[in-house]
Amino acid sequence: MIQRRNSDLDTEERLSRDRTDLGERNLDRIASAYRELLDAIGEDPDREGLRRTPDRAARALEFLTQGYRQDLEEIINGAVFESTASEIILVKDIELYSLCEHHLLPFIGRAHVAYIPSGKVIGLSKVARIVDVFARRLQIQENLTTQIAESLMRCLEPSGVAVVVEAKHLCMMMRGVEKQNSVMKTSCLLGVFKDDARTRSEFLSLLQE
Ligand code: ZN
Repeated sequence: MIQRRNSDLDTEERLSRDRTDLGERNLDRIASAYRELLDAIGEDPDREGLRRTPDRAARALEFLTQGYRQDLEEIINGAVFESTASEIILVKDIELYSLCEHHLLPFIGRAHVAYIPSGKVIGLSKVARIVDVFARRLQIQENLTTQIAESLMRCLEPSGVAVVVEAKHLCMMMRGVEKQNSVMKTSCLLGVFKDDARTRSEFLSLLQE
């Protein structure tokens, strides 16, 4: 049983090793910081269960921060198409996992992204990729929301962009700071979504469907 679990982990680590983007030197630095951290909280970094934790945690952090090292242009490239569409395009319920920059704890939720094209549209899966690029960094929810909206505005030059993010923050939930189920909502409205009340209310009613 234990043997099988170990070999599963080996596979997982092998797979992620092939795709290291931080470089071995930085991964080593992160791993030794985690070792130090385990020691500082009174744990024994050399005990069986923790022996490989610093390396695993470093790999995990590399993945969770890969947005810093991704090129948005490259992701979007080839997925922008010409179109005469001029209605609201809404991508709802995009899963979102990020890390709060104040506590380095996750916040988890969904993003809803809408835009009104003005000549250019983008593949739907790319919208989710854009969300990931900004979510996989140290973030605060307000900035994440704005960055998603502004990047779409830049890439597509649409008539408007609207982004709503709703998320639960583990730094509040786990530390008992706020009610367990409170959800934080942020929005960023640009272009016609900001300027035109009718467009805005159409977007809001689409969100509620
Ligand atoms: Zn926090």
